[in-house]
Amino acid sequence: MKVGKDKVVSIHYTLTNDNGDVVDSSLERGEPLKYIHGHGNLIPGMENGLEGHEAGEKFIIDVEPKEGYGEVREELIQQVPKEQFGDQEVQAGMKFTAQTPQGPVMVTVTDVSDKDVTVDANHDLAGENLHFDVEIVSVRDAEKTEIEHGHVH
Ligand code: ZN
Repeated sequence: MKVGKDKVVSIHYTLTNDNGDVVDSSLERGEPLKYIHGHGNLIPGMENGLEGHEAGEKFIIDVEPKEGYGEVREELIQQVPKEQFGDQEVQAGMKFTAQTPQGPVMVTVTDVSDKDVTVDANHDLAGENLHFDVEIVSVRDAEKTEIEHGHVH
């Protein structure tokens, strides 16, 4: 059975960046990633790369930012007065959830000066070329209720 719309696909993957650093791997968790194909559950580059392949195949999918987590958007990098953090210790590299008019957004502190804190709401992998070493473990038809719920049971 081939990967296509409304199939439940189970894959093992290891994600590396252009430097060859391992960013994420299903093998570390021991469990394959399961998702319903064709419902925007994975980044477009992954779904396009998996489409039409079958269980047992191993291959590499290269994904550019536009098919991955997007380009870095400068408008998502902001300086916030340090006083807004109150007594909280703030350091570069910290992550926290910021409340915005669009809902909660995960931001990363990228710089701290005497007065300001620079926060970046871009995805960690924005602007990165992604290289997925994938193995398709299984492919099956999704149940009707799985399609309705949008997740694998
Ligand atoms: Zn459900």
